Amino acid sequence: MRIDSATRDQLQEWEKELSTHYQRICQHELSLDITRGKPAADQLHQSDGLDGILNGDYRAADGTDTRNYGGRNGGGLEGLLCARELGADILQVPTEEVLAGGNSSLTLMYHAVLTGYLFGFAGNKPWRELQSPKFLCPVPGYDRHFSICEQLGIGMVNVPMTETGPDMDAIEEEIKKDQGIIGIWCVPKFSNPTGVTYSQETVVRLAQLAQIANPGFRIFWDNAYAIHDLEQQINLPGIRAASLENDTADSVLQFASTSKVTHAGAGVAFVSASTANLASLKKQMHAMTIGPDKVNQLRHSRFFAEFTLLKKHMQKHAQILKPKFACVLSQLESAFGDSDLGEWEKPKGGYFVSFNTRPGCATAVVQLAADAGVKLTPAGATFPYGKDPEDRNIRIAPSFPPLEELDTAMSVFILCVKLASVRKKLEIL
Ligand code: PMP
Repeated sequence: MRIDSATRDQLQEWEKELSTHYQRICQHELSLDITRGKPAADQLHQSDGLDGILNGDYRAADGTDTRNYGGRNGGGLEGLLCARELGADILQVPTEEVLAGGNSSLTLMYHAVLTGYLFGFAGNKPWRELQSPKFLCPVPGYDRHFSICEQLGIGMVNVPMTETGPDMDAIEEEIKKDQGIIGIWCVPKFSNPTGVTYSQETVVRLAQLAQIANPGFRIFWDNAYAIHDLEQQINLPGIRAASLENDTADSVLQFASTSKVTHAGAGVAFVSASTANLASLKKQMHAMTIGPDKVNQLRHSRFFAEFTLLKKHMQKHAQILKPKFACVLSQLESAFGDSDLGEWEKPKGGYFVSFNTRPGCATAVVQLAADAGVKLTPAGATFPYGKDPEDRNIRIAPSFPPLEELDTAMSVFILCVKLASVRKKLEIL
């Protein structure tokens, strides 16, 4: 189906056929959901061995009794040493630069933004004292990042994502003209939602930004999908090494968690940063908590006693996820491979497939799908303030539903894209 070369008669004919098909589907009373990137039950089962793994032995290797407050060798606010080692393996950074927290990296990111906003990092001016503090937001991006800025009244500036990461020319230009830019959100590997992994050039140019930005500028390096490869391992160039080379180590804050490794609601999250940044973060957190759940941290350290075990574990996840991504991609390819109805990425890992409809169609697609019983992430969710200026982007999350349900949901999605596209074209003809 090629819409731009179709006549009005052809379009009207298609609209009739597609509407009839759609009405039939609506009668099936489906109830399917491909909204959020949640692990499926069979993925969660891979980590059920966490339960009971301590078997009454609550002491960490350094002697810390994890049931109690505090502990030896940094068992307090920084988390258990062995948990920090796990975070260091995931993020490929030194253990001393890692803090192991509770279950959510998003919480750590929220606290990091709050630290910058209220108190300032490493002796810099708090962002709230600036006239108009703003974050750069590569789009499409992760909605929860944008929610943090929106809630704290921090402005957001869209920058387009490319196949090698965010558009660095646009970023450098924005920073040069506006010293109110104090941060950028990055999901550098298997980006949410486009699946892109940043190139070496992008990583180096990001690491150099602090040389031209406000001294309080921070890169929020949310490496949520650091070890979530579907096929062979994709190498993400290290931002730490690049920042050390450029004397900008204080501009980087890295995050990760085991949310999509073990139990999504009961994992361990990590933040890694320079000593000065960690000191600022700990100062803020000190007033808020004695320390994280060390029993759970110990369970994770025992479960992944060696990094190779973690890698093997992630291969099991990949085996479960691969057929689901294949289902989405093959349905899209056979429906739209030779059409002008949409574009999408073919990710090699992560949790999402990003689909762009023709301009002005995404909201209609999501509504049509909802009315047919298939829930999609709201159109616009991948943009700051929920506003996709072109109304094109839809994030597909294949992980959670069983394969047969996903297959059905994708057929409905495809039908809705066709119907919305034809209707839109008729409207503007
Ligand atoms: N960052 C990104 C990019 C994510 O996609 C997600 C989960 N959807 C999170 C963070 C949330 O991580 P956590 O569960 O550790 O808070």
